[in-house]
Amino acid sequence: MKENIIKNKSTPAMRQYWDAKKEYPDAIMLFRMGDFYETFDTDAEITSDILDIALTKRANGGASSVPLAGFPYHSLEQHIHKLLSSGYKVAICEQVEDPKLSKGIVKRAVVEVLSPGTAIATKYLDSNENNFLGSIYIYKNEIGYSIVDNSTGEFLCGLENKNNILNIIKEYKLKEIIIPSFQKEELIQIVNSSLMVTAYDDWKSDYDHCYEKLNEQFNTKSLKGYGIDDNKLLIISAGACLFYLEDNSFKKGDHITSISRIKEKGYMRLDDFTLKNLEVFDSLNNQGSIGTLINTIDLTITSMGSRLLKSHLRKPLTNIKTINSRLNTIDELINNQILLDDIVILLRQVYDLERIIARISNDKANPLDVINLSKTLSVLNQINKKITVKQKNLKQIVNKQNNMKKLVGLIDKTIIIDPPINFNKGYFINKGINKELDQYRMISEDANKWLVDYQDQERKKTKISSLKISYNKVFGYYIDVTKVHLDKVPDYYIRKQTLTNSERYFTDELKEYEEKILYSNDKSIEIEKEIFNDLKSNIVKQFKKIQYNAKILASVDVFISHSLVAINYNYSKPKFNSKNNLEVIKGRHPVVERLLPLNEDFISNDLILLNNKKHLAIITGPNMSGKSTFLRQTGLIVLLAQIGSFVPAEKCTLGIVDQLFTRVGASDNLAGGESTFLVEMNESANILNNATNKSLIILDEIGRGTSTFDGLSLAWAITEYLHNNKAIKAKALFATHYHELIELAENLSGAFNLNVEVVEKNDKIVFLRKIKDGGASKSYGIQVAEMAGLPNKVISRAKNLLIDFMNKKINKKSDVNQLNLFDKDSRLVKIIKKIDIDSLSPLDALNVLNDLQDEIK
Ligand code: ATP
Repeated sequence: MKENIIKNKSTPAMRQYWDAKKEYPDAIMLFRMGDFYETFDTDAEITSDILDIALTKRANGGASSVPLAGFPYHSLEQHIHKLLSSGYKVAICEQVEDPKLSKGIVKRAVVEVLSPGTAIATKYLDSNENNFLGSIYIYKNEIGYSIVDNSTGEFLCGLENKNNILNIIKEYKLKEIIIPSFQKEELIQIVNSSLMVTAYDDWKSDYDHCYEKLNEQFNTKSLKGYGIDDNKLLIISAGACLFYLEDNSFKKGDHITSISRIKEKGYMRLDDFTLKNLEVFDSLNNQGSIGTLINTIDLTITSMGSRLLKSHLRKPLTNIKTINSRLNTIDELINNQILLDDIVILLRQVYDLERIIARISNDKANPLDVINLSKTLSVLNQINKKITVKQKNLKQIVNKQNNMKKLVGLIDKTIIIDPPINFNKGYFINKGINKELDQYRMISEDANKWLVDYQDQERKKTKISSLKISYNKVFGYYIDVTKVHLDKVPDYYIRKQTLTNSERYFTDELKEYEEKILYSNDKSIEIEKEIFNDLKSNIVKQFKKIQYNAKILASVDVFISHSLVAINYNYSKPKFNSKNNLEVIKGRHPVVERLLPLNEDFISNDLILLNNKKHLAIITGPNMSGKSTFLRQTGLIVLLAQIGSFVPAEKCTLGIVDQLFTRVGASDNLAGGESTFLVEMNESANILNNATNKSLIILDEIGRGTSTFDGLSLAWAITEYLHNNKAIKAKALFATHYHELIELAENLSGAFNLNVEVVEKNDKIVFLRKIKDGGASKSYGIQVAEMAGLPNKVISRAKNLLIDFMNKKINKKSDVNQLNLFDKDSRLVKIIKKIDIDSLSPLDALNVLNDLQDEIK
């Protein structure tokens, strides 16, 4: 009702706005008005806040007005990006007819809806990161999920347990999830975060519809070729993605050319906690990517390479053959530095093919994009030429490229070498491509000369030497005569405009010429755009092939990055075997070693964990001594080895690790609504329930999130379970401050103690960072606190308290012994009970007393 009142009272333009807005109530509507995009009402309030632009008012018919905020049309991309990053959807309502030709109010319609998960390639998207949309379909305890990056065309799907939804969200850094309406509530309860969840009409989760949609997208009759034919959950989640993208962009995304199934097998299991605790992508203290593994090892040159490296890190391999082939490729590059340098230079000329394709598919590409596409395809060819058969592995990869010479030739022939980004002014198509275009262009090009000649001719005819021919947008071409010469103006001059100091005229001849020029300008731009569209259609037909070549370029780049890292930072090639041991000689932490001050050397350390034998190490040592660093470097070395990278160690021999778990005691998940200790125990439960003897478990101070005795008991029991449970016997490193575990490790055949060496000088400690056999003798917590600069008073009080606590512990121990002495089952009590006092002689009594004394002693 209220809406009707607003509508009825509104101006025609505002009525148009309200009609459009009604269709997209959950999106911020950007309403095109001339050279501006305007937002109204609550949209305007939100927009002005996020974009930091002025909030004003606009008449809404009668005396009413609505809040208004707008920005110039050319800053659209930048502003959309900000709105999307703030978690909003945006609907773009364009003028869909030429205002000059429209009778009455110009027609407008929504032409595109953008949401955080569907944004296509804009220069504001992070080029080194994917922008994934997730689609989920729940069935009992299982889910089918699909992941699509609309900005690159990557499309994946897989099956998972419902409990793992959060892992998927974090692993792929999803920007938005779509789900059928009837499952939205269930999902929100699981996800419980600020992530955008969009519900779609339930009928779009119909299996047959989705199956058909996928076939239509890929131009296929069956989905068998994609390995998803047998699973309804996969098909529904994938089909829904396509419906959603099409509904938003109003067109079929040609750049989505295939779908790959995320295989459950073939990859190391690596959950989000592990990625987080090993600081693979994000630093634990919220410093973004500073101090992370990716920041250290990403020396890729292209955005495509950087994105691929990240996807490798999310999915380390478990197939020795594939890993070895990656390692051998790196070897080939390291052994041929000239080739390596040449490829680096060539990769610097590479553009983001995947995102260019997405732009072409979404009608957002300009001629420069197309030229860059052609240049990049040629680069791959040049790289291939540089690689000889000696580089067997690399050659095999690059040789698989599709031959794109014809397309490259067509593009280079059609588009000029350095086209403008703004193609509305034309002049980006080469001469000689279209006769008509050349003729029209000649007319425009001749125009200047004609105008100069005409101006000369009129000056001579009229004898007005200051006569000038000029042009403006409103009046077109005109002859300008200053007022002093008005008496010389001939009859055939027709007045156009009067100014203070001059009069402006036109002639039939000038008018005729103007029409010809403007017509030929319009015409040549129209022809250029037609040629450009034809060219784009040709490119669209080759999308699949181009995407394939893009992936080859990305993987070459990843190999280059691994090689540069190996050379620059002195990494070595890991060796895999089937013995299931882990042997690291002189291992280093890849990130810590890079961040140490110049005057500090990283101290390398060895570690040997043996299958079913000595497979569990308890690591003790003072705070700050380097326990966590040692633990994590082991995890990172295994991770790097299994993505097929060289590793920061002098030597590393290992068997395939099927799962890598890294848990750190007392990590917070307050945002997730869970207590610190509960998170810690959830994580531990996950490990104990899933680890196998091929897994590597890294536990850093598990148990410290609760009281000392509870924590110690749990840490003890967990260690025993890992050791004794035949189904597990995983390789494990457990760093702890509970020195009681040292004794435990001494008594378990598969366990052993390690500690980090320190030396004590005048009550101060010096960290040697060297891992050695055996347990630590002391904690040195107070000395570390002193180093941290705690006030002297606090330190000396702590030292006294420590002595007190230690004494109390000893006293308590003797109390306990006393109690035990008189326990009803103790031998002492038994001896006393046995005494028959009635028949006891004084000598016997003395003997009994003697026995009791002996017993006590
Ligand atoms: P806490 O018990 O307090 O957690 P910790 O024993 O786990 O401490 P780390 O956090 O591993 O100690 O190391 C502390 C610092 O020591 C690191 O940030 C690093 O700067 C330095 N460090 C650790 N290991 C080494 C090493 N092998 N070589 C050189 N410096 C190291």
